[in-house]
Amino acid sequence: MEGQYIGIDMGGTNTRLGVVSKEGEVADLLCLSTREYSSWADFSTKLTSAISEMGLEGIEVLGIAVAGGVLIPEGIMSYSPHIRWLNQVPIKESLVKATGLPVFLENDANAVTYGEWMYGAGKGLSSVICLTLGSGVGGGIILNEELYRGEHGLGGEIGHMCVQPSGRLCTCGKRGCLEAYSSASALSAAYGERGLNGKAGYQPDALQIYERAVAGEKVALDLFTSFGEHLGIAIANLANVLSVHHYVITGGVSRAWELFLGPLEKALEANLFSPHRGMVKVLRGHLRDKAGVIGVARLAADYL
Ligand SMILES: [Zn+2]
Repeated sequence: MEGQYIGIDMGGTNTRLGVVSKEGEVADLLCLSTREYSSWADFSTKLTSAISEMGLEGIEVLGIAVAGGVLIPEGIMSYSPHIRWLNQVPIKESLVKATGLPVFLENDANAVTYGEWMYGAGKGLSSVICLTLGSGVGGGIILNEELYRGEHGLGGEIGHMCVQPSGRLCTCGKRGCLEAYSSASALSAAYGERGLNGKAGYQPDALQIYERAVAGEKVALDLFTSFGEHLGIAIANLANVLSVHHYVITGGVSRAWELFLGPLEKALEANLFSPHRGMVKVLRGHLRDKAGVIGVARLAADYL
């Protein structure tokens, strides 16, 4: 069977993998724990045996997506913020040896963006920007039907766009990044700082804050308002610079859509350069947690 690719989406907690067809359908989506490993040697042994179990017959290419900086031609991780033991690992070479397949390594947010563009909410658009709201904020840019990587492959780091000068401290060491307002970790940290009910330092996770907001708690609702406003400012900045009018929002925290969309749209319109007003559309991702697997499989097929 032709037109079958393997897609692997490697996160800090879990790794998803599956066989993806040319039409973007995924068969046999598997999930491995990444967290219990502490070296690429051990993890890749487990990963390779999972790949062999899926069967390699008819598979043309293998794509693997990981958070962080990726040297595309070499297939090496240049930096890996969440999985420290991946720093400088030659992932491509290792998986080519283990599977015999052509291998393509890509940044995870770029993979999600490519998937949503080829098969999801961005299908048919010539330019689209995707924001992945998870523990951090990932970004990917499709410009004129091509994934834009920028110099040194570091393009699309929308999470580290400044949306509040001298604002909250980000995990990257800068202040006022989008990620310090519109991510799961930011929600949790900001909630903890409020010292609610005298319990300073109590940090519910993003899902608990979402549940509190839905139940009408003001502190939680305010956090989602701020979450949406900062996203709106970031999207307006992108639209003002690039004149891209379609934005896809995906990732775990996008489930709180109804809580942040209103503030997002208000801040977006207020910060748009006037010729763009009324033209920018914010869409919800369609592929959910399969976007990375589907996207990186298709990227591998298109780029190799
Ligand atoms: Zn940052």
